[in-house]
Amino acid sequence: MADDLSVKCCIAGGGPAGMMAGYLLARAGVDVVVLEKHADFLRDFRGDTIHPSTLEVMNELGLYDALLKRPHQQVTQLKGRFGTYETVFADFSHLPTRAKFMTLMPQWDFLDFLAGEARRYPKFKLMMNTEAVDLRWQDERVVGVVARGPEGEFNIASTLVLGCDGRRSTVREKAGLKVEDIGAPMDVLWFALTRLPDDPIDPVGNFGAGRIFVMIYRGDYWQCGYVIAKGGLEDVRRRGLQAFRDDIEALAPFLHGRSAEVTSFDDLKLLSVGVDRLTVWHRPGVLCIGDAAHTMSPVGGIGINLAIQDAVATANLLAGPLRDGTLTDADLQRLEDRRESPTRRTQSLQVAIQNNVIKAALGRRGQPVKPPFLLRLIGWVPYLTRIPARIVGLGFLPEHVDKAVIP
Ligand SMILES: Cc1cc2nc3c(=O)[nH]c(=O)nc-3n(C[C@H](O)[C@H](O)[C@H](O)COP(=O)(O)OP(=O)(O)OC[C@H]3O[C@@H](n4cnc5c(N)ncnc54)[C@H](O)[C@@H]3O)c2cc1C
Repeated sequence: MADDLSVKCCIAGGGPAGMMAGYLLARAGVDVVVLEKHADFLRDFRGDTIHPSTLEVMNELGLYDALLKRPHQQVTQLKGRFGTYETVFADFSHLPTRAKFMTLMPQWDFLDFLAGEARRYPKFKLMMNTEAVDLRWQDERVVGVVARGPEGEFNIASTLVLGCDGRRSTVREKAGLKVEDIGAPMDVLWFALTRLPDDPIDPVGNFGAGRIFVMIYRGDYWQCGYVIAKGGLEDVRRRGLQAFRDDIEALAPFLHGRSAEVTSFDDLKLLSVGVDRLTVWHRPGVLCIGDAAHTMSPVGGIGINLAIQDAVATANLLAGPLRDGTLTDADLQRLEDRRESPTRRTQSLQVAIQNNVIKAALGRRGQPVKPPFLLRLIGWVPYLTRIPARIVGLGFLPEHVDKAVIP
């Protein structure tokens, strides 16, 4: 089949990794197409956090003020509540960044903002409603993708295919990249409840006997996540809707009857949690980043941050070789070498929290929960709240825009 479109870089997936990589590469003068299989950026409960490190990147790009004109909430502290014991465990107000807070912004707004900015560059093309369905090969090298859009299938030729298509990545599957499944002991049921003016505003993780309930302030509503043991939805259903509502009210008594807004189990959206990582992130002509390379747990809300950091590193390292036509496999390996270590460290931390805090709390049905020692220590020595704030807010290796590559 002949090529219908030819670009230097074809990005599969218009999530945080794909849109940021597309924007930066186009700004650096690389012609790029982003394929997004959905018709819009609307996704419920997909993770709406924008971290201080991402805001720092936006600042370096001159986009900070414009982005923060979009509707959002600012969060300076994260809190945990274990029974009656409540403590701040992360305080962003001391971070060495312009934004000393995390924002909560609908991902639709963030991605739409990036798309709007990217369209200013003639080298950028975004194709919504268009899915990467297969890779095209020449000998052992990937040379483009087969895409399916509203008008049917077509061929794209590209020097590099960038797999940013998330945790069920078609690109990584078709490239035959090996996945190491690390696993997660829980799933999350998401739903929304009305927020009243007198409610607190900081996000709270409530740990009760055998139960975990996360509440994120979203202006006039609470984004609520009820954490269950992996595959435990049937158990929740069996106990019945009223038992579910009672659990919520017990964990967050200030709700005062608002749990009745959950009128059926259909109001709950099940998000299956997974953690995995590719053993090698690339093959000749193809590279995966973001969740496609390393599916992140929601613990700490850091997956979007990592996806954005991957995108910045990708543009810094690969824009030059892509533009000049000198891209080699060694360049792709350089990207993996840079991002593999912060990814591995972040996932190790998430898995440690999953196993030592979440699994332990979910297993203590009927017994009082005790805050872990480290959390109590942070409660006693407030200075220590700066450490989790750094890990959540900046990550292990925050990336900065290389102005020599991306003007
Ligand atoms: C329950 C839950 C809650 C979470 N909450 C948070 C949070 O609060 N904060 C946080 O930082 N992280 C959170 N995460 C993790 C976060 O969602 C991911 O780490 C992050 O979205 C990864 O970004 P990405 O761009 O790599 O992939 P994604 O966000 O998954 O984006 C992939 C995009 O590719 C598109 N796509 C898929 N296949 C194709 C294809 N074949 N062709 C074209 N397009 C395709 C999809 O439609 C999607 O738009 C959460 C995860 C879970 C499971």
